Amino acid sequence: MYSGNFDYDIIIVGAGISGLAAAHAIREKDSNISFLVLEGNDRIGGRVHSTLLKAGKNRVLPFDTGGQFICEQQIHLMQLLRKLNIVTEENVNDYGFTLGDFNEGQFYKTDSMPPIFGETIHAEDIIQFLGKNTAPEICDKIAAAIGITNIKTNTAVEAIQRNEFYVLVRTAESEYKCQYVILAVAPEHMMNILFYPPLTDAKITLYRRMHYKECVKYVITYREVPFL
Ligand SMILES: Cc1cc2nc3c(=O)[nH]c(=O)nc-3n(C[C@H](O)[C@H](O)[C@H](O)COP(=O)(O)OP(=O)(O)OC[C@H]3O[C@@H](n4cnc5c(N)ncnc54)[C@H](O)[C@@H]3O)c2cc1C
Repeated sequence: MYSGNFDYDIIIVGAGISGLAAAHAIREKDSNISFLVLEGNDRIGGRVHSTLLKAGKNRVLPFDTGGQFICEQQIHLMQLLRKLNIVTEENVNDYGFTLGDFNEGQFYKTDSMPPIFGETIHAEDIIQFLGKNTAPEICDKIAAAIGITNIKTNTAVEAIQRNEFYVLVRTAESEYKCQYVILAVAPEHMMNILFYPPLTDAKITLYRRMHYKECVKYVITYREVPFL
């Protein structure tokens, strides 16, 4: 039985929405459980991100360049948004269109890239926008709820070593002894972390084959409304 101290009960690797949601669930379950979220980037949010772009009427506005649309089938995310009082809106734009009005009701339709899980996403299922907010505001709200001091940015995890007593999480500058680690990084980023004991061959093959970079999003802004 290990009688030494742990720096934290749980270390969460990655401050994307998964890592932040995990931290929120822990905080909600038991506020005595200590945790730290380690994020390699200089910002939280991961693939939930927005960029300022020039828009009409000489405005500069934030646009979502990553995850943006939400639907009721994302039950855990919808529950979390309700807990955080984040308002979602029906998918109707300023001109009364819904996504369902485009492309014969199919939001995603192409022959060149088959739908990832074998299903075309039907626009009528995508029922929510985040209203006037951008998606990173979800991450900011979760971060505020779990306590910003429990998140360390610019801190990439380089190695994770597990023995029968504790897990040691190494970054370039520190190491943390904890009981559990939650890995909330994209599969291909798992390969940047050195694991001891090493990952099984099956896991390495899986992570090497799972790519998220095929998902590309274009945001086009206009000085004036080009249609109608
Ligand atoms: C262009 C685009 C559009 C999308 N549109 C939608 C949409 O409309 N609706 C929807 O539901 N989903 C959408 N998605 C998918 C959605 O954004 C992702 O599923 C979701 O953001 C993934 O979150 P995550 O926390 O699991 O991973 P990530 O967001 O990838 O977060 C992982 C985090 O881990 C960090 N990290 C990686 N390695 C390390 C390390 N060694 N040490 C410390 N930190 C590390 C990364 O920097 C990152 O911040 C879209 C994705 C993209 C790219």
